[in-house]
Amino acid sequence: MSKQELEKITFTIGGMHCAACAVTLEKGLAKVEGVDSVRVNFAMGSASVEYQPKLIDVEVVAKEVDKLGYSAKARRQDDILNFRAETDQARRDFVISAFMGVPLFFINMLSGAHMLPPAELGAPIDVGKIASVLVVAALATVMMFVSGRGIFVDAFTQLRNKSANMNSLIALGTGAAYSFSIYNLLAYFTDLQPLSEHLYFEAAGVIIMLVLLGRFLEARASGNAKKAIVGLMDLRPQKATAVIGGVQVEIDSAAAQVGMNLLVRPGERVPADGEITVGEPSIDEAMLTGESLPVEKSVGSKVIGGSVNGAKVFEMRVTHSGEESYLNSIIQMVSDAQDSKAPIQRIADRIAGVFAPTALALAVITFVVWYFFGGDGRTVMMYSAPIAVLIIACPCALGLATPTAVLSGTGSAARQGILFKGGEALERFTKVDAIVFDKTGTLTYGLPEVVLVTPLGEYSEEDVLQVCATVENNSEHPIAGGIMREVRQRKLTFKDASDVEALSGFGVRGVSEMKEVLIGSGRAMHNHKIDVEELKDTAESEMDRGRTVIYVSLDGQVLGLIALMDKFKREAPEVIKKLKEEGLKVFMFTGDNRRSAKTTARALGIDHVESEIRPEQKGELIRALRKVGYHVTMVGDGINDAPALAEAEIGVAVGSGTDVAKQAADIILLKSDLRYLLAARELSRQTFRVIKQNLFWALIYNLLAIPIAAGVFYYSIGLKLSPELGALAMAFSSVLVVSNSVRLTWLNVIGGTSSDFDQEAAV
Ligand code: ADP
Ligand code: MG
Repeated sequence: MSKQELEKITFTIGGMHCAACAVTLEKGLAKVEGVDSVRVNFAMGSASVEYQPKLIDVEVVAKEVDKLGYSAKARRQDDILNFRAETDQARRDFVISAFMGVPLFFINMLSGAHMLPPAELGAPIDVGKIASVLVVAALATVMMFVSGRGIFVDAFTQLRNKSANMNSLIALGTGAAYSFSIYNLLAYFTDLQPLSEHLYFEAAGVIIMLVLLGRFLEARASGNAKKAIVGLMDLRPQKATAVIGGVQVEIDSAAAQVGMNLLVRPGERVPADGEITVGEPSIDEAMLTGESLPVEKSVGSKVIGGSVNGAKVFEMRVTHSGEESYLNSIIQMVSDAQDSKAPIQRIADRIAGVFAPTALALAVITFVVWYFFGGDGRTVMMYSAPIAVLIIACPCALGLATPTAVLSGTGSAARQGILFKGGEALERFTKVDAIVFDKTGTLTYGLPEVVLVTPLGEYSEEDVLQVCATVENNSEHPIAGGIMREVRQRKLTFKDASDVEALSGFGVRGVSEMKEVLIGSGRAMHNHKIDVEELKDTAESEMDRGRTVIYVSLDGQVLGLIALMDKFKREAPEVIKKLKEEGLKVFMFTGDNRRSAKTTARALGIDHVESEIRPEQKGELIRALRKVGYHVTMVGDGINDAPALAEAEIGVAVGSGTDVAKQAADIILLKSDLRYLLAARELSRQTFRVIKQNLFWALIYNLLAIPIAAGVFYYSIGLKLSPELGALAMAFSSVLVVSNSVRLTWLNVIGGTSSDFDQEAAV
């Protein structure tokens, strides 16, 4: 089935408590006819489903989710804000349980209600003790049925689906402790044969309380991990002022339509993307692009919805709003990234998938061993050890290890203007060992200036520029921009050309006043058999100074050349030096001529250069590098380097980037400052490190705690783990992992300013 016939929907899932739930749901949905692929993210509480609309529709998918014991609703962007309500709910549940659980704990401890008084005939009846046992039993009962209700309901749903999750284990553990105690209590008052004089009411109640505490802490911590994205959402202004027929009207900014005129007052947030029509404000775009200084704007400048106006009022015309807006696309991209999984998570998923049956088996083994070979500790351990095993075996921390780190890492990156397309990009970026830069617009500012015009024969500099302008006026290429700036500065007029066509990697052609205009590199001229011999010396000396030379021809006759100088970014040499120090191989690929490329590369400290290559060839070269075993990152500005971005293992689009680049790239740097490339590397490295730490702690915790809970060390060193302590340890291991991830949210990777760099001196 081709990809086009698939549709994709993301649901917000309710009722997931554990990484194992995510695995169950993923497996369950994948089996459904018509579902092509499923990706469930426990930390985000979401499921993305690709399905075949011919076979199945959204409602059916949602019903299947219901059947598996969870709830599904089509996700809206704002669903992420639900975490506040979820945290509140979790807090309430815990507080209510604590009102019963805390007294339960103390009464039990002070009155010794964990043991039934001896019931021999004729012995004096210990009324006080009986009373406290009954109070403890009553409190535990209420806790089981009120606070524990959600846990038991879910456990039964799982049972119906022949699966098990964390709730199943807790239900089984506390259920066993509770029914065992109820039976003994009944036996005390009737002629039933008691199993033991031990009672575990307190264990059952306290475990439920601690599980709820763990869920509350977890909800709060994962809420923190979502803050970056929520921060972006909070940038959306509520109100806007529309100017309709000269009258100011207050509207919801969601209602701002393309073409509308809006008024933005000092200090207000810009309500939508647009162009300034009146005013010269300075605007703070820090939250959107990471640019810390306010940007001066004038009529015709673009403004981005969500940025903050400075001290001057201005008017704007809306170009994009709502779903189409830049801010929205960033939010979308960040939430997609946070939904995605890092490959390393597969390890965690695989373990989480088998934990429930494994834990059950271990609990049974623990019981059997203690029952038959328990020795003196038998009565104490026979029941409490298996319960502790059930409680502690849940790999919750394991399930949270990767997603919370990805969530925090990508969120922190987004706040600083670095967008990762997903956990996978983040992980693969740490493994990169070769980095390829595009030249124009990536290593350079992409704003070349005309430094020399050399006309031939009877032509003047103006003639050359005027002919050139006819076609360049229709080109998007940075060179065209440079030429048009020069033409405007000299206030030259020019005709319009027709049939303008970009010769990708060579130049541009068109027809003006019935004459064929061809502009481009030496190679472009060569291909069209246009003789440029007369200009050779000038061209070569210009190119040796790192300049780009283009020839202007009319009907097969060269009129002259134009030399342009594009400044390389001032931070570029420093960034390249750092990358080389980190052991990366640095390449520069450019369509520009060989001489000029060499000069630039030398000045920047790049040893490997490929010049005079077409955009497709950049892609081919990257493929070749990968073939010989390099993990290649391509860094480009997206103007004609999308094929290379796509071909690289990791494509990085620098600067606001074109839409094509955004699609082809895995990482987008909103600012064109190359230091953000280093920042992105640092962030991905740090995030990956946190993931590994988390996985280690989560696993080691389970590995160590299970044998202790089973009582393996009971005889040798007297070490055991009560079920309550197990519940506490479990709650805190999750919190530990989540908190470790949340650290990334505050990680600032952009520091220091690059030293001033004198380009002319370097060349
Ligand atoms: P880069 O790889 O540096 O981004 P391109 O592949 O975009 O360069 O272009 C390669 C060469 O093709 C330029 O150096 C220039 O000589 C020529 N060229 C491309 N587009 C134009 C244009 N619009 N006008 C003139 N020359 C152009
Ligand atoms: Mg380019």
